Amino acid sequence: MKVIKFGGSSLASSAQVRKVVAIVKDDPTRRFVVVSAPGKRNSSDTKVTDLLIQLYERKLAHKSLSPVIEEIFSRYLEIGEAFEVDEEHLAAIRLDLEAVNQLPIENNPHLYDHILSRGEDNNAKLIAGILQAEGVNARYINPKELGILVSDEPGNARVLYKAYKKIYKWADSEAVLVIPGFFGYTEEGNICTFSRGGSDISGSIVAAGVKADLYENFTDVDGIYSAHPGYVHHPEIIKELTYREMRELAYAGFTVFHDEALMPSYRAKIPVV
Ligand code: ASP
Repeated sequence: MKVIKFGGSSLASSAQVRKVVAIVKDDPTRRFVVVSAPGKRNSSDTKVTDLLIQLYERKLAHKSLSPVIEEIFSRYLEIGEAFEVDEEHLAAIRLDLEAVNQLPIENNPHLYDHILSRGEDNNAKLIAGILQAEGVNARYINPKELGILVSDEPGNARVLYKAYKKIYKWADSEAVLVIPGFFGYTEEGNICTFSRGGSDISGSIVAAGVKADLYENFTDVDGIYSAHPGYVHHPEIIKELTYREMRELAYAGFTVFHDEALMPSYRAKIPVV
């Protein structure tokens, strides 16, 4: 059984999401799908998470949220409309974004995390709806229901050890579970995100929790290269790395895989592809 994770660039447009649907359908052992928020479609584009930061800043400045909500919603709309996804999924996304208007600013240390988590949360709902429309028995699951319990450290949460036992209860799920990456819930029920790029961490936690055979991490490059493909033409692909080598690379600024994402898979002895 496999846990798969798709990064933002792999979910940036309907064309990209078509590939995701094909990847999920291609292998029935892919049971848990962790998703990022829609990323950049081209180099001048803005990631949904960065638009959500703008939304937060406007909220603090008491400016109208509508223009940014519209821009964010249009990203989901473009993707959803390309599939025969139920109208209600898109309506729910709009409502969820509009609900940011009602969130309290005062005495709310989780406001920033709550707003940022909307990118992944709405994307997981949309991707689950798309998979259903494409004939896959899939369903969205919220990280709270799944059991992703984290420490109360806004913007830099750590998974709590007891989360793994809770997540394991879902190991035999009949439906393919679509899980928003990047955040979990504190024991008090508040949303806390991991650090930026943290959907890799969510994928690794889920893989360890359900005791997956493999954690497949799909991103915008075809593998790990011996040099940065943006600078060096046709570098060689490195077929295998140890966790230790991967960690060294991550600490040195290598961004294919989040450095904190290694530990849960390493401890549970789950190979990462
Ligand atoms: N969407 C979040 C970010 O941009 C998390 C992620 O993509 O992994 O940092």
